[in-house]
Amino acid sequence: MIVNMAANATEEQIQHVVDRIKECGFLPHLIQGAERTVIGVVGKNRGRRAEVEALRVAPGVDEILIISQPYTLVSLELQPQRTVVDVKGVKIGGPDLVVMAGPCSVESREQLMETARGVKAAGAHLLRGGAYKPRTSPYDFQGLGVEGLKILAEARKETGLPIVTEVMGVEDLDAVVEYADLMQVGARNMQNYPLLRRLATVPRPVLLKRGPSSTIKEWLLAAEYLLSGGNPNVILCERGIKTFDSELRNTLDLAGVALAKELCHLPVVVDPSHATGRRSLVPAAARAAVAIGADGIIVEVQPVSGESAVGWTAISRLAWLRRDDEWTSTGDRNGRCCAVRQRGCFKSRFSHER
Ligand code: PEP
Ligand code: MN
Repeated sequence: MIVNMAANATEEQIQHVVDRIKECGFLPHLIQGAERTVIGVVGKNRGRRAEVEALRVAPGVDEILIISQPYTLVSLELQPQRTVVDVKGVKIGGPDLVVMAGPCSVESREQLMETARGVKAAGAHLLRGGAYKPRTSPYDFQGLGVEGLKILAEARKETGLPIVTEVMGVEDLDAVVEYADLMQVGARNMQNYPLLRRLATVPRPVLLKRGPSSTIKEWLLAAEYLLSGGNPNVILCERGIKTFDSELRNTLDLAGVALAKELCHLPVVVDPSHATGRRSLVPAAARAAVAIGADGIIVEVQPVSGESAVGWTAISRLAWLRRDDEWTSTGDRNGRCCAVRQRGCFKSRFSHER
């Protein structure tokens, strides 16, 4: 439920509505817009719902909207202005396309530092790299843990790039919070509710990857956990979902990106690396993501001996893309797509390549 207060509602009138919502056993979430205050009403108390609905005739209330979706705080209906998440000065969800790049996992100091320098020189805005790795096989490399986090911190110190790294469980949360600028929730953990509840309380933004078999609704409800628990700084990440096709690692749900942006006010970025699993398809998938409205790209790159320059040129071509006025004012997605194409494509070393 959403309570739209009138533009001229007084402080007392707003407070009265807030108090009544609480008395009825719901939680009010205030959004102070430029023109008016909007109150999201969350929680379940069927018995007293009608009392909240009756507030539509209270002084200072303009209207009450009953929303059909089960999520409230992430919805664009509640907050029509888009959320811009600030990661150490890098603004995600604003006019500029943000590029996060780095290896799948931190494997060694040399590997990470070389990658970080390349990524920085290419103009990427954030450095990615996993210190705790969710692996399908228990025999695969599981990550360097705290040692990996320390290497990431060293790379940040040298390059100035904020770091995004995965937190796999509540047991690692304190360690990751100490080092990360952006906390990644991996696809397999999107519905790890104890983890989401804890992340709702930490003073760090969260990159919430979509579960490989999760619906858009489940994804937005996972984000709702974070917002309702007190963390408004959430970035959604589409990274491919499971379908019947077996040629690709996953299927990139591009329309899902557009839909998520239509339903909610959070920024949405795309991970073309895990979505495709093929290096050759990463540039095309990234271009398509930009064309459909993604706020950024998170891509895996690796220095490959003798060829390390390749990936970096590639990132730089993406990194200087801007969602400038021309594109946004004409709303010309095709124009945007062409612009990306003219500026060339980038190549990435993708570690999960088939
Ligand atoms: C990763 O970012 O390296 C990763 C494991 O991603 P996902 O959770 O999307 O599989
Ligand atoms: Mn990976």
